[in-house]
Amino acid sequence: MSNPVLGNSPNAAINKNILARYFQIPIPENKVQAMYIWIDGSGEYVRAKTRTLDFIPKKPSELPIWNYDGSSTGQSSGMNSDMYLYPVAIYPDPFRLGNNKLVLCDTYKHDKKPAETNHRHSCLKAMEAAADQHPWFGIEQEYTLLDMDYRPFGWPKGGFPGPQGPYYCGVGADKVYAREIEEAHYRACLYAGINIAGTNAEVMPAQWEFQVGPCEGISIGDELWVARFLLHRVAEEFGIVVTLDPKPMPGDWNGAGAHCNFSTKAMREANGIIEIEKAIDKLSKQHVRHITAYDPHGGKDNERRLTGKHETSSIHDFSAGVANRGASIRIPRSCAEEKKGYLEDRRPASNCDPYKVAETIVRTVCLNE
Ligand code: ADP
Ligand code: MN
Ligand code: MN
Ligand code: MN
Ligand code: MN
Repeated sequence: MSNPVLGNSPNAAINKNILARYFQIPIPENKVQAMYIWIDGSGEYVRAKTRTLDFIPKKPSELPIWNYDGSSTGQSSGMNSDMYLYPVAIYPDPFRLGNNKLVLCDTYKHDKKPAETNHRHSCLKAMEAAADQHPWFGIEQEYTLLDMDYRPFGWPKGGFPGPQGPYYCGVGADKVYAREIEEAHYRACLYAGINIAGTNAEVMPAQWEFQVGPCEGISIGDELWVARFLLHRVAEEFGIVVTLDPKPMPGDWNGAGAHCNFSTKAMREANGIIEIEKAIDKLSKQHVRHITAYDPHGGKDNERRLTGKHETSSIHDFSAGVANRGASIRIPRSCAEEKKGYLEDRRPASNCDPYKVAETIVRTVCLNE
């Protein structure tokens, strides 16, 4: 990242009790603050802006299409900068509370064609085509907390913490840093109606994970992107930066992934293991296609992470196994025993676009493309 090196966060220094006073001020009953959220030109970060509505929206189609300056988000030239925001999902806003809403949008160019980083558009088509197979996804989002100088939060300045081992699911001031963010984010997700499955501290200090799912079809992408927004937004208040980079610290430190757990109705039923094995066979023939789709830079980001060490497989080979955390695909032990359930694709990078990951899995496994 190429930002200037900053000292302590200006946000962390703000006295939040003053803001709390303004949240006591009543606002007119018919007014709703709708924060529109979208994926920017990086395909990795979100942007958001707010407008006032004079009704309480119940579904996305009631909300106005809006526009924004795509030249400031890496999505268009300044000469022809207007881009469109199409509302696709609404969530209760855990920051503003009341009737206020978060509005997830996908993005369109001036000619109404999907923007380059709008991977929802084609994902939705794949999900509609495979709807009869009821595809479910659960994504494990790993992330790393950084100080404003982009060093991992809580790491000694100019030095390193002790080697990995005590930090995973750790408890104690020398084991985990900034649990406050994980706690606040968890509650924010639950309030917003995100199907958050759980959280844990990860192997590298200052690294954490939350899981979203199981979600059917397109909702995995919608909910994970909103959960990411909530994470960045919560951390902003604490003056801590969240990075989804898949290998934030080179060397003997675990990278960050977004394992994608996947099943179809047939896999979840008795003897579904046969369907799981069929899916693995199809995936084995499309390794490069999947690696290309599993980070925003066509596999470049995952090159740093999928080394074959640190609980990863090699980026160059496809492999699968029961309970094997060094394989591309893992069948959880419990699924092997019950002969049904789901598979875990361990390859997606933490900064992947879940729409792209879910679409690629469905096209390979369900649509035989
Ligand atoms: P791990 O053991 O790899 O750390 P986690 O417990 O972190 O696994 O995450 C497992 C994920 O799998 C959760 O998001 C959960 O919702 C999801 N999941 C569970 N059952 C299914 C299923 N049948 N299909 C798809 N995803 C599932
Ligand atoms: Mn303006
Ligand atoms: Mn996990
Ligand atoms: Mn993990
Ligand atoms: Mn996992």
